[in-house]
Amino acid sequence: TKWVYTFGDGQAEGEAGMRNLLGGKGANLAEMSNLGLPVPPGFTITTEVCTYYYDHGQSYPPELEGQVRAALDTVGRLTGRAFGDPANPLLVSVRSGARASMPGMMDTVLNLGLNDGTVEALARAAGDERFAYDSYRRFITMYSNVVLEIDHHHFEEVLDGYKDRKGYTLDTDLTAADWKTLIGQYKGIVERHLGRPFPQDPQEQLWGAIGAVFGSWMNNRAIKYRELHAIPASWGTAVNVQAMVFGNMGETSATGVAFTRNPSTGESELYGEFLINAQGEDVVAGIRTPQDITERARIAAGSTKPSMEAEMPEAYGELVRIYGILERHYRDMQDMEFTIEAGKLWMLQTRSGKRTAKAALRIAVELASEGLISEAEAVGRVDPASLDQLLHPTIDPKADRTILATGLPASPGAAAGEVVFNSEDAEAARKAGRKCILVRIETSPEDIHGMHAAEGILTTRGGMTSHAAVVARGMGKPCVSGAGTIRIDYANQTMTVGGRTVAKGEILTIDGSMGQVLLGQVKMQEPELSGEFATLMGWADKARRMKIRANAETPLDARTARTFGAEGIGLCRTEHMFFEGDRIVAVREMILAEDEAGRRTALAKLLPYQRADFVELFTIMSGLPVTIRLLDPPLHEFLPHTEEEIAEVAGAMGTSAEKLKRRAQELHEFNPMLGFRGCRLAILYPEIAEMQARAIFEAAAEAAKATGAPVTPEVMVPLVMTKAELDLVKARIDAMAQAVMTETGTQIEYQVGTMIELPRAALRAGDIAESAEFFSFGTNDLTQTTLGISRDDAASFLGPYVQKGIIEADPFVTLDQEGVGELVSLAAERGRRTRNGIKLGICGEHGGDPASIRFCQSLGLDYVSCSPYRVPIARLAAAQAAI
Ligand code: PEP
Ligand code: MG
Repeated sequence: TKWVYTFGDGQAEGEAGMRNLLGGKGANLAEMSNLGLPVPPGFTITTEVCTYYYDHGQSYPPELEGQVRAALDTVGRLTGRAFGDPANPLLVSVRSGARASMPGMMDTVLNLGLNDGTVEALARAAGDERFAYDSYRRFITMYSNVVLEIDHHHFEEVLDGYKDRKGYTLDTDLTAADWKTLIGQYKGIVERHLGRPFPQDPQEQLWGAIGAVFGSWMNNRAIKYRELHAIPASWGTAVNVQAMVFGNMGETSATGVAFTRNPSTGESELYGEFLINAQGEDVVAGIRTPQDITERARIAAGSTKPSMEAEMPEAYGELVRIYGILERHYRDMQDMEFTIEAGKLWMLQTRSGKRTAKAALRIAVELASEGLISEAEAVGRVDPASLDQLLHPTIDPKADRTILATGLPASPGAAAGEVVFNSEDAEAARKAGRKCILVRIETSPEDIHGMHAAEGILTTRGGMTSHAAVVARGMGKPCVSGAGTIRIDYANQTMTVGGRTVAKGEILTIDGSMGQVLLGQVKMQEPELSGEFATLMGWADKARRMKIRANAETPLDARTARTFGAEGIGLCRTEHMFFEGDRIVAVREMILAEDEAGRRTALAKLLPYQRADFVELFTIMSGLPVTIRLLDPPLHEFLPHTEEEIAEVAGAMGTSAEKLKRRAQELHEFNPMLGFRGCRLAILYPEIAEMQARAIFEAAAEAAKATGAPVTPEVMVPLVMTKAELDLVKARIDAMAQAVMTETGTQIEYQVGTMIELPRAALRAGDIAESAEFFSFGTNDLTQTTLGISRDDAASFLGPYVQKGIIEADPFVTLDQEGVGELVSLAAERGRRTRNGIKLGICGEHGGDPASIRFCQSLGLDYVSCSPYRVPIARLAAAQAAI
């Protein structure tokens, strides 16, 4: 078996495609060699050795030693040196390199091969004794730290003490003689810890470092990181051994990192920093301030230190040449490491660079415009979830944050304003022209108006699909939910956290993208829906198959949804309109009525409101499909609470407050989410469904007449568990459609369908499809009922469940494909068997989650529906799923 692959001098045994075998770093070093770029020669020990090592009681394949020796000979030949040769020593670096970049693993040992003898040879060769001993002491500390596991601080203490005694401030103040003295002390430290001297034999050093790399694959930090990022332990890491080039060989030497494009803005410019007379660790350590690479960046930063462009023009020119080659070759923005040794530039690493969402968008679009990648590839280059960062105001990355508490990042973006503790105060603040943050233990449908009035919402209870979270996302308002360490005192209008009390009127900022609650007004930046955003979205739209609809009910939401590219409404939750204006009084009247006649009186008051709402919705969505769901939530949610509310409703109904209270008592439920809700309401109180159906059809007729565009409403029945339920409700809807058509003399095309949001409905989808013309998967309730986890109370244990790895992700955020997903898949299949081509969509929160969208694509769903602000994310995710 071949365990070792060499590279250098314009050729290599490996190449970029061999990432699995050579790791990311090794594959790219080989590739750069093949491209003829200046890469110090070296070799990669494959990831298969790592696997072998752990499969064979931490031992190596027998052929490995010979292959490493041969590779070292090759490197020696290319550099004109020999490993361990006291007169002309080859020195090497040893680095780990897994398939995916993995912090937590052993990183780097530089200057390996130095010992008391070879250090003299290095001094002679470089003509610089100080440089040689500086390199040796670096090697001893680094090797001791990562291979011998003797902590850095032991060496640093000795160094600091020495500098104090000598009156030095900088490491560069130390002379060769100083380093020699210190090296003696360093060796003493090692011997004390190890019980034997620092290894002088280069072979022993090398195998020690190789063993440390493989050993670090199984250290706790690496294991933890793999767990978090779903990297299998079986992948293993490679080891890269490479001839040293020295950035610390005086003023014509340097080391640095550079990006081929600006990683925060995406601008096409060489961007990075470097340090003269330094080795790699110095850049990372941050002891010395690095210099800019380009003059332009230096001027922009107002730095007085010369740029690489000005100070090392030749090496700079070489870097510019190479970055062009690399970017064209890899067809992506690269993150490169380089070293300049005595004026000559060497490349040590290249890889795809990490970037912000904004930069990702710009880079993808520009690479496609430059013809380096196709439009479809550009679509694949942007993480859909990251678009969230672009659609809302966000906290200025440079701003200071005083974090008061953290909760769930329930709805992205940042907002600031004075604290209010109820919806009335939120509205009052808004009317007075002041911005506010609505802070509640939890919110309910009654708070909709307060949530509308507030800039952002903060709750101390509730998960990612709690009322506050869902509604805030729908409104595009930032929300932090379940910030459980905060105690709210409604009576005193204060909130307390960590010994600090914030009173009504004080300013808070919330960061709904991070789930943070911050003290005071923190600086923000506005979203930029620049040209690149629109361009990439256009390409995504060309690529995707599934339609994207929005969950929206208010005109504002519907307009926002259209602005973001929604192709219809997949879920209009009619009850959300019940709290607008003074409608709630009529709604309460209806609920609390003693009999059908009483209900009909109240419903007659609601009809014109509903009709007007639907006319507006149909007009805004002109020509696009609109799915309207009949009343769904438990009536319980609409009950009056305060004495005034009860008195108000009693007045409107001409009944006594006492009687009303008794009726409200009767309607109280222990488990409202599993109670009198959904189609159960329509079955027991058919007049409610009739009123809603009438409003829908009258509005359809009116809007069609007004706009000239056909309106095809899709009437949706919630929480169905049997076909019989759907049939009963459908009969009412059909009858009402007939009636309205006769009354208005207009033909109305419409469909009646159902939500699939109970396991029984999914299982019986075959017979339900006999009556339903479409299915919309309500995966919020389907998750809740399949897992037996209340969506409103899950926050307290779901977090720990995810942390412990019991479940992979919050099932209310990312669809549980194995469980809930199987029900969806089975229902889709059974529905189609009954009704060929039945229209299938999803309108649970998962409709805006990229992983769940991919799953929907695989099931062949026709559309996904999500809150308006997630529409762009869904468009991009659906495109990626289709490519
Ligand atoms: C659902 O259950 O997935 C759904 C969309 O309905 P709601 O969230 O209104 O219960
Ligand atoms: Mg539901």
